[in-house]
Amino acid sequence: MARIVMKFGGTSVSNTDRIKNVARLVKAEVDLGNEVAVVVSAMSGTTDQLAAWSNAVAQLQRSEEYDIVVSSGEQITVGLLALALQNLGLKARSWLAWQIPIYTDCVHGNARIISIDSSIILKEIVQGQIAVVAGFQGIGPNKRITTLGRGGSDTSAVALAASLQADRCDIYTDVEGVYTTDPHLIAKARKIDFIAYEEMLELASHGAKVLHSRAVIMAALYALPVQVLSSLDKKPGTLIVKEGGLVEKQVVTSIAYSTNEAKVTLIGLTDCPGVAAAIFESLAKAAINVDMIVQNVSQNGDFTDLTFTVNSSNLNLACKMLNVLKKDLGYVDIISNAMVCKISVVGVGMRSQPGVAKIMFHTLAKCGINIQLITTSEIRISVLISSKYLDLALQALHTAYGLDTDG
Ligand code: ASP
Ligand code: MG
Repeated sequence: MARIVMKFGGTSVSNTDRIKNVARLVKAEVDLGNEVAVVVSAMSGTTDQLAAWSNAVAQLQRSEEYDIVVSSGEQITVGLLALALQNLGLKARSWLAWQIPIYTDCVHGNARIISIDSSIILKEIVQGQIAVVAGFQGIGPNKRITTLGRGGSDTSAVALAASLQADRCDIYTDVEGVYTTDPHLIAKARKIDFIAYEEMLELASHGAKVLHSRAVIMAALYALPVQVLSSLDKKPGTLIVKEGGLVEKQVVTSIAYSTNEAKVTLIGLTDCPGVAAAIFESLAKAAINVDMIVQNVSQNGDFTDLTFTVNSSNLNLACKMLNVLKKDLGYVDIISNAMVCKISVVGVGMRSQPGVAKIMFHTLAKCGINIQLITTSEIRISVLISSKYLDLALQALHTAYGLDTDG
């Protein structure tokens, strides 16, 4: 007997037939003699709609009332799934985050889980009751409902699995698992059988939408086996494991991309201590995440250019913050460009294998694609290019790193 947390995303619960299908998948797990908790997200499109309504009334995304509105989609799906399970003759109960409780900090719209008191639901699970838990939501220190950030129900599932000391967390989605790149864009993308936590984290943090990056961090922290698989067919999915458990360490395992990028360049900044600190402090104060940063070597020691990227939704705000600093910093100009995308190749084998960057740069050069920025980690190389080359670059890199399916 195992204890398993099953998580179902929006497309897996997008209508009542799919919810009944989920109930059958849960029943199959229970019939194997397993103890089961289920985490669900809202029906696909629901959270977008709720966020749009909230924004149409007032643009207060990080407010308590925004969270009340956007967390409500999960209340519907937990109730429906619990009903569907009861209808199959199973013992099941729905749980909202405050009923468990799942405690978070008070950062509305992007809260972090602080702790989960799973003692009450554990008692019921052990007695054969299926716990159907609302993902994405928590309860803050002021007893107000919080949400974990878009896509956060993966994190709810992994955190609950860790708290219940589950044997495995199965994340059911609408694709077969983690792919060598987005199968919607590249027909020759392949499903990956095993991937290391670290690789999955790099992919999730650099645009792959299959898992919330905070869920991967938490899974790695607790060494919790996570499986990503489809709720729509019965094929085996992708198992996320420790790097040591990988039989074959690929040089490049997968290629992620992100189109929500914008590039900002400050021209003619004074080259002296404290300038970068002032810039990034002001962006941090506005809660703007900065990703790639490149500063040019100044030619004469007096002036330099600084380029960085932000999420395109933050571009206007970032420029506004920098305009405020213009008098103090005395730069010459700001140039921004939102027509850019970032492509990241990821693989743990990169650590021991030279020439991985060379293949990337050669391949892009052969396609006539100019590289605007480059950043790397030990197991990742990212480039920023014009967004019009996204498909071409992905296709060429997927082939160059030997990731294409044979068929
Ligand atoms: N329903 C939430 C969202 O759409 C959480 C999730 O699906 O993970 O962002
Ligand atoms: Mg998701």
